[in-house]
Amino acid sequence: MGATTQPAPLLAPDIISVRGLELRTIKSGPDSWHRENRSQPVKIDAFVHAPVAVAGKSDLVEESVHYGILTKAISKIVEADDAGTEEWSARKLALEVVNASFGIGAEHVRVRLSFRKKLLRADACGVEVTKHRFIPYGSDPVTKDVAESAFIEGMRVYTIIGVNPWERLEKQEVVIDLELQKETAGEIDVVGISSQVVTIVEASSYLTIEALVSELARYLCQDHDLENVTVNALKPRAIATAQGPAVQVTRSRRYYSTEATRFHENDFKQHIAFLGMGSNLGERAALLSAALIELEKRGVKVLGTSSMYESAPMYVENQPRFLNAVCKIATTLSPHELLACCQDIEKNALGRIKLVDKGPRTIDLDILLYDDIALRDGKVLSIPHLTMLEREFVLRPLAQLAPNYVHPITTRTIAEHLDHLCPPDTYVSDLYTVVPIRFPHGTKNQLMFDTIHHIQMPSHLMGILNVTPDSFSDGGSHVTAETMLAAAREMIKNKATMIDIGGQSTNPKSVNPGPEVELERVAPAIKLLRSLPEFNDITISVDTYYASVARGAIEAGADIINDVSAGLLDPNMLKTAAELDVPICLMHMRGTPQTMSKLTEYKNDDVVEGVADELAERVRVAEASGIKRWNIILDPGLGFAKNQEQNLSIIRELRHLIHSRREFDGLPWLLGPSRKRFIGEITGAVVPKDRDPGTAAAVVGCVAGGAEIIRVHNVKSMSDVLAVTDEIYKNRSTLEIRKSRRAN
Ligand code: ADP
Ligand code: MG
Repeated sequence: MGATTQPAPLLAPDIISVRGLELRTIKSGPDSWHRENRSQPVKIDAFVHAPVAVAGKSDLVEESVHYGILTKAISKIVEADDAGTEEWSARKLALEVVNASFGIGAEHVRVRLSFRKKLLRADACGVEVTKHRFIPYGSDPVTKDVAESAFIEGMRVYTIIGVNPWERLEKQEVVIDLELQKETAGEIDVVGISSQVVTIVEASSYLTIEALVSELARYLCQDHDLENVTVNALKPRAIATAQGPAVQVTRSRRYYSTEATRFHENDFKQHIAFLGMGSNLGERAALLSAALIELEKRGVKVLGTSSMYESAPMYVENQPRFLNAVCKIATTLSPHELLACCQDIEKNALGRIKLVDKGPRTIDLDILLYDDIALRDGKVLSIPHLTMLEREFVLRPLAQLAPNYVHPITTRTIAEHLDHLCPPDTYVSDLYTVVPIRFPHGTKNQLMFDTIHHIQMPSHLMGILNVTPDSFSDGGSHVTAETMLAAAREMIKNKATMIDIGGQSTNPKSVNPGPEVELERVAPAIKLLRSLPEFNDITISVDTYYASVARGAIEAGADIINDVSAGLLDPNMLKTAAELDVPICLMHMRGTPQTMSKLTEYKNDDVVEGVADELAERVRVAEASGIKRWNIILDPGLGFAKNQEQNLSIIRELRHLIHSRREFDGLPWLLGPSRKRFIGEITGAVVPKDRDPGTAAAVVGCVAGGAEIIRVHNVKSMSDVLAVTDEIYKNRSTLEIRKSRRAN
């Protein structure tokens, strides 16, 4: 057998290099102060592929690429004083150096130019260019671009980073290195990128270096049109005995576009998203409701809504006030499809015409969050929404629906962001909770409440109008249309803003007449009031626990349902309220009006916690039945399933109760202490009509505790009581004091 010839092994090319050549040049473009044609130091590394086999054998200088000649050729180009009027840049200079290398016969050249004085905040920046040139037989040389990149080294930034509590108190140094590549060869603005990266990182507060480098890579790829990016970050102070831990990632633009398109892969998967909604033109509340219907029409499922908040406009200030809310949705649409869907609703369904950026609009739908993704598609789509963290009118309603959602970039929860933006102890909010009136009869199309401070909005006075023959306080006195009307007129003359009409007494001793009789009593009364323009701006509520009565009363012109059982006594009530899309007051009680007075045992003897638990449960059930959060009002139910001491505890600890559950956030509270037995027990007034002075004291307690609506029998005298109470407790100077405390 003869010997077989082995194929020659593939070896790395032979390389001759000149390293660390230190020169000065005026051809590198602007310096760190943006001045052109300034002499700057530059360090050059040049690597030339050149076979050294012949010279290696002969040891003759002329057989090799002469590095002396290479050095001279490079120096001549770099140091030449002939910048003229030409605009130079580091890249252009690097290309000239490559050309000079080709000029002495090299075929494959890599040069790296590094500038130490070009950036204010980094040790160095520069470019690296690799080109290949060959001469096909008998023709002109052909030059091929092999690679081109820019780099920034040793960028020193100061930022909050780390998971340890002490690391979050002060900014610490992080050293960042970047390598940047475009898809096609071209200029990369390292000066601009460097200062933007410094700004972004110094404003951030990541927990991990991993998050910092990942987000920087994403930002550079997407906002600076770069094809490949390597980010390395080192934390010099983290380990006492080492230079520091560092994390490096290399990402490409394609990496992010596949991330965005992966949502097309499984079209049937449901995604959870949160939309911010805003309107400051036209029937604002109706437009927000309409937007929800339009979403449903397009196959998007609305899972929940926040409270509605009225806010002063931001950015462009001379425009009408906004109504804002947030909704939670489930959708199979991808982020971009969802954006298109929102824009279709804005423009085509709800007639949004954009006149001014951030200016008036009938409807604005923004995607705030989508699953747990972080997506950046230039100016087209950013998720999470870019400016949501600086907007109270977004964070506050969002915190109702997703308090524990972790923002994928900041790694903080929404509740933490809200507390950070609006520190509970010192912040003075300008947001008001709005309960919309679905079918306004006059100009009043909403009720406004300050559910944050309980200070900035006057209390609402609700007059009780019983059209029953057996009500406990004024039983039988309003049975004819004339007496009913006279009583209602007396109420509005005395500044009642709401009238609560009831056709059945919840007095334990009264006999239940049934829903038909009840509706026969209330519907004509409501119709009569609604036929008179003087009641146009009066909010009418119907006091009933029957769904059919509620429906009939709303059809007759009532605005609000007031259900003492919070939906417990009629299984259809909550569904009906959701369908009618009108506000409903959910009151805490137990059992029925006949059994409630025996049901006063609360866990640990704590009526406040007991009522909070049970009412929170009613809020959850109501929302699950489709009732919008902005349609919910709460009432702790004084006198219902509570004994003497418990009624007093409710008033005494009202403020704690109101703020004791996440479910109550942003909801206004109605209190009805009027002429109840717990008052008579103290004063000795056996006849309800004699309990008004005692009621007055209770009213003061309720308002001090944060009640927004006070329901009373004797409007005339309670109107004065409420006026004085409001002057004491709902006085803006309280906020001025807090504001000045905040300033100090
Ligand atoms: P506003 O900033 O007041 O919401 P627009 O509704 O007119 O103003 O939105 C301006 C642009 O913002 C739109 O063209 C849209 O492509 C873009 N955009 C970027 N991110 C989002 C997002 N998360 N949700 C909605 N629009 C977004
Ligand atoms: Mg928008």
